[in-house]
Order: sequence, then C-alpha cells, then structure tokens
Amino acid sequence: MKVPLFDMTRQYEKIRTEVLNTIDEIFKSGKVVLGKHVKNLEENIEKYMNVKNAIGVANGSDALVIAVKALNLNPGDYVITTPYTFFATASCIVRNGLTPIFVDIEEKYYNIDLNEVERILKTHPQKEKIKAIIPVHLFGKTVDMKKLLELKEKYNLKVIEDTAQAIGAVWYDGDKKIYAGTASEFGTISFFPTKNLGGYGDGGMIVSNNDELSQKAKYLRVHGASKKYYHDEVGFNSRLDEVQAAILDIKLKQLDEYIEKRINVAKIYKKLFTENGLNEYIEYPEVFKDRTHVYHQYVITLKSGNRDELFKHLKENEIGTSIYYPKGLHLQKCFEDLGYKEGDFPITEKACKTTIALPIFPELTEKEQEHVVKTIKNYFKGE
Ligand SMILES: *Cc1c(COP(=O)(O)O)cnc(C)c1O
Repeated sequence: MKVPLFDMTRQYEKIRTEVLNTIDEIFKSGKVVLGKHVKNLEENIEKYMNVKNAIGVANGSDALVIAVKALNLNPGDYVITTPYTFFATASCIVRNGLTPIFVDIEEKYYNIDLNEVERILKTHPQKEKIKAIIPVHLFGKTVDMKKLLELKEKYNLKVIEDTAQAIGAVWYDGDKKIYAGTASEFGTISFFPTKNLGGYGDGGMIVSNNDELSQKAKYLRVHGASKKYYHDEVGFNSRLDEVQAAILDIKLKQLDEYIEKRINVAKIYKKLFTENGLNEYIEYPEVFKDRTHVYHQYVITLKSGNRDELFKHLKENEIGTSIYYPKGLHLQKCFEDLGYKEGDFPITEKACKTTIALPIFPELTEKEQEHVVKTIKNYFKGE
C-alpha cells in the first residue's frame, strides 16, 4: 500500500464544484489581485482568530519580512529566534539588515527554550541591543505564550509569532481562549499548499491587534505607498491574489473540522504505537492541557535505532516521510559569519538526527495509518 505524506487531491474532490464556480466568477470579473475576495478572507480571518487586523500578502516568508520591517528596528539590533525551524524564520531577520541570535529548543517539545532565552537576555554582551524575538509554533504546537509574554514585558521585547504551521492553534489564559499569533505585535501565517489552511499556490497573511503597526504593514505590501504612487518608504510588492483568497475562504469554513481530523489522526497513531509495542522505541508528540497542537506535522522521535535507516525503510515501502529539519539553521552555510559551530545547540542537533515526520492530513484513513505503523514495527522488530 502506498501512503502519501500529504495529499491535497482528496480534499479537492469535496470542494471542487464550489472552487471551480468561484474561479470562473473571478476570471469573468477581471479583478484578480487585492480585490473583494482578499478583503473577505482578511475579515473572516479576523473573525476566526479574534484579531483586529489581517493583511493578505504573497506568502508566509514575505509576511515575516514585512512584519520585521514594520517594527522599525535599527541596524545592529539583534533578534532572537530558534535554529530548529524553516529557513524563513531566520532569513527575515537578515533580509532586514538585523542579526539573529539563535537559542536552543526545549527537549521533547521542540519549541524555543524560554529559560534559555531569559539567560541570553541577561548575559549576552550586547543585551541592550536585543529588541525582538520570533518564536515559532512548531509543527502546530503552541508556544508557552504566558511565559513568553512575561519575558516580553520584563525585557521590553517586540514579538512576532511565526504561525505558519499553526493557524487555529490556541492557548488559554484562565478561561480566555487566545489564538496563536494574536498576542504579540504580529503573527504571520503561511497558506502554502501543505499548511493546515493551504491554498492552490502561494499565499500568506499578517495579523495584529495593533492598528498603527497594521497600517504600516499594509503600506509595506504595496511598495510603502500610503496612497497610490505616493511612497512614504521603500516597501515590497507582496500581493495575495484573488483566486487563492477565494479558495482559502472556502476552506476556512472547514478549518476547524480539518484540525479536528488531524488531532484524531494523532490519537490513532498513539493508540497504534501502543498496541504494537513501539513505545519503547519512539516518542510521539506530547500535548498540554492549556495550549493546543493542530498537527501540521506529526513528528516522532526515535529513542533507539537509526533514523536514516527508518527513513530509507519507509521510502522503500512507499510511505511518505520527511525530515524536519535535517540541519539546524545555526550550521547553515549562509549563516557562517554568525560564528556558530557544531555543538552549540545540542538539543537542536539531536533533534535533527532523531526525528522523522509521518503521513498526516485530514483525509488519511485508519487503514493507511495501520500500514504505516506496521511498517515501522517491521523496521524495529523485523516482524
Ligand atoms: C512554511 C513556513 C514559512 C514560510 O511560508 P511560505 O508561505 O512557504 O513562504 C515560514 N515559517 C515556517 C515555520 C514555515 O513552516
């Protein structure tokens, strides 16, 4: 049996007529960028995430670059982030002429280690120049935002939550439900096709409760123009197109259902690993009561065995798999001049060698999951 890591065609079958009718309407109208569908999507995301402002942009990487730029930091300033994430989380800092400071992740949960962040904030030789932090809700798992907001307050930091993998994830402050991405200066979202709310091409969004910063981001997406052809500063061209916005709006109505299904897939994996006696070999993603995991990726950690061999074994058996991420950002060639070296972030480096992603998407069947788990069992136990 062939099991894909991700398959968007199954979902398409269910929304095909609605999507095709909408596209036809857009093409007939002749309005294809930043029109009513982008506006509708922005408004619906504002409602969904309970946030004041949503600004559609071309992709999640641009959302980050624009958000950093809107913070108006000074050349020479530092921004803290994690080395265990997609490249765009750190490149947005460099692309704005600022310097990243990487901080290792927490064991098991793989989000940035906030104790370590505080240690750096206290001891870094240039600590007064650390102005912002970009945490990532990695794989869909919400960062400990209560603790992060305490640090924000105490050290006067700007925060951009990289929410590319976590739209729909929430955390609780008492009874109050707060969406990942909405408690800081900015949250940034990606609509890349594989993401939990994925388009049929690129797309992204910036969310914020700060009106002034939102206005700034809005100008920056159209070359820094507050009025057409009147440029207050040099910005970007980063438009979300109407077709993507319209499709995303159709899918947004079902996002909670998609997330529910992903959570169920995760539950079934856990059940199957246990039934198959695999818990001594692998560690599956843990969740907390007061913050959710929307399972953009289902990433397990090997307690024993060889990850690369398991990877090969799964590939040979036609099971979709991937490594997020094989190399920490601190060791990437393009960041050589930052001066990091092997051994600087042991938890990240260990995660790069011991984690592996398994198939997950809302339409994955239990039969397929059984096959995935059997194939893993076959690797560990030879049965
Ligand atoms: C996908 C992703 C991005 C970038 O989004 P694009 O839409 O692909 O540009 C940024 N950060 C993280 C953590 C991501 O997973």
